[in-house]
Parts: sequence; C-alpha cells; structure tokens
Amino acid sequence: MKKTENLVIGAGLMGITTAYELIKRGQSVTVIDQLSAPASSASYANAGMLTPSMPEPWNGPGVYKNLVKSLFNPQASMRLRWNAIPDLMSWGIKFLRYSSQAHFDRACRDNFYLTSYSLKKTQELSEKLGLEYSRGTEGTLSIFQEQEDFQGKSNLCDSLRQYGMKCRVIGPDEIISLVPALEKMKSKIYKGIHFFNDEFGDAHLFCTEIEKEFIRSGGRVQYNETAEEIVIHDDEVVGVKTNNEFIEADRVVLAAGAVSPKILKKVGLNLDVKPAKGYSLTVHVDNLKEQLPLPVLDDSQNIVFTPLGNRLRMVSTAEFAGFDTSIDQNRIEMMFKSLKKILPGVHELVNESDAIPWAGLRPMSSDGKPFIGWSEIKGLFVNCGQGPLGWTLAMGSANLAADIITEREASIDPELFSLSRSRSS
Ligand SMILES: Cc1cc2nc3c(=O)[nH]c(=O)nc-3n(C[C@H](O)[C@H](O)[C@H](O)COP(=O)(O)OP(=O)(O)OC[C@H]3O[C@@H](n4cnc5c(N)ncnc54)[C@H](O)[C@@H]3O)c2cc1C
Repeated sequence: MKKTENLVIGAGLMGITTAYELIKRGQSVTVIDQLSAPASSASYANAGMLTPSMPEPWNGPGVYKNLVKSLFNPQASMRLRWNAIPDLMSWGIKFLRYSSQAHFDRACRDNFYLTSYSLKKTQELSEKLGLEYSRGTEGTLSIFQEQEDFQGKSNLCDSLRQYGMKCRVIGPDEIISLVPALEKMKSKIYKGIHFFNDEFGDAHLFCTEIEKEFIRSGGRVQYNETAEEIVIHDDEVVGVKTNNEFIEADRVVLAAGAVSPKILKKVGLNLDVKPAKGYSLTVHVDNLKEQLPLPVLDDSQNIVFTPLGNRLRMVSTAEFAGFDTSIDQNRIEMMFKSLKKILPGVHELVNESDAIPWAGLRPMSSDGKPFIGWSEIKGLFVNCGQGPLGWTLAMGSANLAADIITEREASIDPELFSLSRSRSS
C-alpha cells in the first residue's frame, strides 16, 4: 500500500473527527478500524448529550465511599465489580488520589475550556456541512429531588461562571412547562437547572456523516483491519502492522478508545485509561418531542432520557467490569422502571420489547481529563481518554490534535491535556 502521512487507528468519535481535521489541513490520512463501519464501538449508542455543562470528572471528593458501597449493591449507578479489582489496582489508586478537591476543581476548569471550544467547533461544522444527526439545540435539563444534590451542582456552576458557564435555576412549574412529560413527578422535584447552551444529537450519525466528508475530501478508510503492532525503527514510528499488511506512515494517531493502552503496552508505553461500561436503551416513540423536547437528567437516579428525533435514548450506570460488554438484564429492567417512574406518560407509549439494548466502554483516564498529545515515541500521537464526555469533546479534541500535529497555534493550551501533564495536588 502507498505510504500515508498519517495513519489513524480507530474510526470512533476521536479517530474519525481527527482524520477529518487533518485532511482539512492538507494532510494525507488513512483510517483503519477492526470493525466494519464508523462509530461501531463506544461511539455507537451513547446518551447523545453535548454538555459543556458537565465537565466534572467522576472522581470527585468522596468517590471512594460510593465505590466501596457499590461492591455490595448490584443496583448502584456507579459500580465496581470484585473481579475487576486486580486489573484496576494502579489506575484505581490514581483515580482515588486525583479525587482531592483541588484536583477536581482544576480538572473541571480544564475540561470546561475544551468542552466549550468543542461545542463551538461541532456547531460550526454542523452548520457549514448541513450535517443530519437528529441535532437538538434546546439545552439539557438536570432535575434534583434532594436539596443537597442540587446544592452540589449549583456550587459547581457558580465556580465555572467566571469561565463562561451559562445556566438558570428553575422551579417545578417552569420545569413542567419546559418538559411536559415530567408532570407526574412534579411534587417530588426540588429544583432543576436548565443548561440552555448545551446541545444533543446522535453521535453515530454524526460520525457517519463526517466519514463521508472525509472520504469525499480524499481520505481513505479501511475497515476489518486490526492494528496488531505499531512498528518502531530507531525510536521512531514507521508504520503499523495489521492483520492484513504493513502500512507505512510518517505518523500514527492512536484513537482506539478503551483498547488504546493495550496497543501502547506493546511498544512499552503506559496510558492511564481503563474501560467503564455503560448501558443504553433506544426505542421509537411517536411525537416524542412534544413530551420531551430536550434531554432530562435525573440526578438522584443517575439516568438520562434523550430525544433523538422520534427515538428515545435512555442511559444509566457505569460499571468497572473490565472489557466485558455483555448486557445485564437487571440493568435494562432498572432503566424501564426509572422511565415508568420519571416519565410515565412516555413509558405508556413505549413497547418495551422493541427497545434496543446496548453496552459500550467509556475510555476513562485516572485524572478525569483526556490525553491529547505526542507520546514519548517520535511520530506516535494519542487522542484518547475522553471518558463520559467523548461526544462533547470530540470536535475540540480533533482540532487540538490536528493543530498540534500540523504545528499550528492551537486555541487550547496543549499542555493541559498532554500525556506528560503535571498532575500534582
Ligand atoms: C453508555 C454511554 C453513554 C455516553 N454518553 C455520552 C454523552 O451523552 N455525551 C458524551 O459527550 N459522551 C458520552 N459517552 C462517551 C463517549 O461515547 C465516548 O467517550 C466516546 O465514544 C469514545 O470515543 P473513542 O473514539 O475514543 O472510542 P471508540 O468509539 O470506542 O472508538 C475506538 C475505535 O477503535 C477501534 N479499535 C480498537 N482497537 C483497534 C485495533 N487494534 N485496530 C483497529 N481498530 C481498533 C474500535 O473498533 C473502535 O471503533 C457515553 C459513553 C457510553 C458508553
């Protein structure tokens, strides 16, 4: 095969958007993926929320108590499984260490810069290319049943206002006029926060659209092609050995999601990323938008309901369970129960047996921020670890990656997300 300037491993959100931004900067780019279509792994059926409003890492102060409790509670929304513990040891210690208040605050701020930039880039591209991905611009609504939970999120919003966070606190009446489907929950809701600058849309459709644009612009994509080894010669990348061939490349961009650390390990590098499993259910609902015009996140139940055209997408839970993507029927039943409780009017319109269950692995970094930058090996670039925010962060990460690779001035300080960043405190 002809030599390429850039070989991107992975056609998920990170890989396909980075490939697109590189080709727009005049580079030659080939993408390979072990599966047969774009966004077929973690980027396939996520909650669809584009949320600069949620920059907080999962490892906030006190996270360890929840994780320990979850070992004994199969219904916990964030769950650690006993059998995953040995593989999580060193990553887990860091995950807990980075849960200090100082680190949490810094990670929120850094992520907020990138999420805001990313949404702007997603909007620009969507409008420029007229992309179709069930886009919604009504924002997101978080509802709180407990004053304490509301206060926590409200304090975080206050601390991010100076960097541009925009939201408004609303009471039960206004919540119902915004989302009629919440009527029967009204008496239980303490308050809500409407993040009116957020957006939502189908990440899988977005990737499919970008892949088409990438190919139209001269890019090449090879599916069913597994990267087996990044080949290094004299401390420099020379290409990738796949299950089919050797592909020669000046640079390799690793965007293989939760699998990335396994690929890096073969060339002697460590990346603090582990998989966190999440479930979704997607089901057709006629005239859904009338009842549910925007995503609703119930903080106390840790569940999200997102309208994607006439499809309802429900997402809940995070499990540290290794690379297992099997569907646990209990989790599915819990989601239906939550739907019945929170949006009973929508539940009545749903045929449960038509719902499509799915599970995917969020690539989670131990400090709650993605890794976007050069590795210690010349020519090997990493764009991975966006965790629960990968859809929100995709276009920002892609622009930052492409700017660094092509040696342009980036809009975001590259040090904040570099592989060698300082993580003291
Ligand atoms: C349940 C759930 C809900 C979520 N909700 C949201 C949300 O609402 N908003 C948000 O912002 N984010 C959300 N996310 C997070 C987001 O979906 C992920 O962060 C994002 O999809 C990660 O993209 P990626 O490109 O890094 O990984 P992936 O999408 O997993 O892509 C990696 C690709 O690499 C390929 N690959 C792996 N190994 C190899 C190899 N050796 N050779 C070739 N190819 C290889 C895989 O086949 C895959 O296609 C959610 C995630 C989950 C699981």
